[in-house]
Amino acid sequence: MTARKCVAILGAGPAGLSAALWLHNLGFEPRVLDVADHAGGLQNLNFLANEWVLGQPGLAGPALAARFVAHARAAGISLQTGVRPVRLEGATGAFRLRLDDDSILACAAVLVATGTRYRAAEVLAGVPGLAGIPADHIAYGPHAFADLAARAGQRVLIVGGGDNAYENARLLAPTAAHVTLAMRSRPRAQQGLAADVAAAVAAGRCRVVYPAVVTALAAGAAGLEVALGVAGNSELVVVDRIHVLAGYQPNTAFLRELLPPASFAALRLDGQGYLDVDDAGRCGLPGLYAAGDVCNPRFPSVVSALAQGAVAAKTIEMDTRTP
Ligand SMILES: Cc1cc2nc3c(=O)[nH]c(=O)nc-3n(C[C@H](O)[C@H](O)[C@H](O)COP(=O)(O)OP(=O)(O)OC[C@H]3O[C@@H](n4cnc5c(N)ncnc54)[C@H](O)[C@@H]3O)c2cc1C
Repeated sequence: MTARKCVAILGAGPAGLSAALWLHNLGFEPRVLDVADHAGGLQNLNFLANEWVLGQPGLAGPALAARFVAHARAAGISLQTGVRPVRLEGATGAFRLRLDDDSILACAAVLVATGTRYRAAEVLAGVPGLAGIPADHIAYGPHAFADLAARAGQRVLIVGGGDNAYENARLLAPTAAHVTLAMRSRPRAQQGLAADVAAAVAAGRCRVVYPAVVTALAAGAAGLEVALGVAGNSELVVVDRIHVLAGYQPNTAFLRELLPPASFAALRLDGQGYLDVDDAGRCGLPGLYAAGDVCNPRFPSVVSALAQGAVAAKTIEMDTRTP
């Protein structure tokens, strides 16, 4: 592998794999590195059919992810999982990326395609009584969508007020005994989901409560007892399960350790930690690029990640041309 043509890609989700394919076709040698044991990114946790990718109807997330990975492998792209980048030194055209197995990768450019992670334990951290709730009675993020049929006849409290929380309520309401949707502030779900949930509310199958926060938890004889602070008052809700769907946050914290302080300071990060890129995928530090959900809080999706990966690859090709 020639360092001048090598591009390190951090993250083997749709954005990273798309960038790798484009770089490969443009004559580069992409090296895709992922901390997870499986390549494919967040779609590995999408248990439902993903009907938003043109030409790929009816595929559940893991099957779609497997297609992306298979395409990259068939093209002969180097793809390594279970590996963590720990230090990036050097400068554009001549970076040295140290990995946690102590190997060093010499590369011309680096693409950050590390996506996002769902908010999990931190959402209920500190709530009195949490430790007494059996772990399998609380589902976080994508896991709230696993085995929905098993929720028939159950009472479910969903914590969250965005698209994911509303989608979960919409899917559970027809068969669950009852669904309570509790959120800190006003609902933020898209209109179609809000309309479906409103219909479930009208049918008495669902209730939407806000502004509401979970203030205490207990495992009682009749189910999980959840104390909700609702607009200054306290009420008790008894349920069988709690689903926490409180959004996502970008995987960028590692950049503070990865980069020397002066390089980190050159990055543009927004208030939530998302990388702020220009429309070509550059993020402030020469030679460092970003694509996908890690820099796209407004419209995270598979197709935008694929497209941003392609754009970043084209930018890298242009930026590394020799006169
Ligand atoms: C349950 C669920 C359902 C969804 N449904 C849809 C849908 O129907 N349609 C749709 O378009 N989108 C959907 N999405 C969103 C879609 O999955 C994402 O928008 C898309 O996967 C983003 O791709 P990405 O490559 O930017 O990031 P990701 O897919 O998140 O991939 C990032 C990769 O980076 C790796 N990584 C993280 N940190 C590091 C690090 N420090 N070093 C190296 N690697 C790292 C991660 O392990 C991961 O493999 C869904 C998401 C979820 C969770």
